[in-house]
Amino acid sequence: MKPFDELLDDAASAHGHLCPGQVLGVRMAMLGCGLVGIHEPVGSKKLLVYVEIDRCATDAIQTVTGCRLGKRTLKYLDYGKLAATFVNLDKTEAVRIVAREDSRERACGYSPVGLDKKAAQLHAYKEMRDGELFNTAPVSVEVPASDFPGHPLRRVLCGQCGEGVNDGREVLQGDEVLCRSCANGAYYRVLSTVQRSI
Ligand SMILES: [Zn+2]
Ligand SMILES: [Zn+2]
Repeated sequence: MKPFDELLDDAASAHGHLCPGQVLGVRMAMLGCGLVGIHEPVGSKKLLVYVEIDRCATDAIQTVTGCRLGKRTLKYLDYGKLAATFVNLDKTEAVRIVAREDSRERACGYSPVGLDKKAAQLHAYKEMRDGELFNTAPVSVEVPASDFPGHPLRRVLCGQCGEGVNDGREVLQGDEVLCRSCANGAYYRVLSTVQRSI
């Protein structure tokens, strides 16, 4: 793994700016990878990361770990928590790391006077000890075969909309195989049934 400062530079350029979330994300990822024994995460075939928020720190975690949604090595759970779980597929024990609620207040004590809030946090999050920034717990994660990287295990067509569904994400309702949006309702609302090629 590269040293912290280089990873932070990489994260800031990938994310588009340097922010407290980049510092937290880089540190969380370095800590998590280390705790599960993966010292060269980028390109590792053993690492899966579950992130629980779609905010700044998640980009930094992607930069440090090389885990990506499109590679199925990054899993996103919409919990709204600044937390991530690092899974080494060779081990039964994973580690979940969550940013401590009190780290924001503690940050004040670490920063030179006169910095604005964001600059103060940025400075402090580089200096504070891991234990002051994060709570860490060993966890076990059952990764289903249909969540692994690699070729899709299965692909079926939805009995209602006819669209293809990969990786066992279909729903069986009675005898009918449906996609999740047909079975449970979609996040979108179709405005016109006329197909348009753009
Ligand atoms: Zn940011
Ligand atoms: Zn459907």
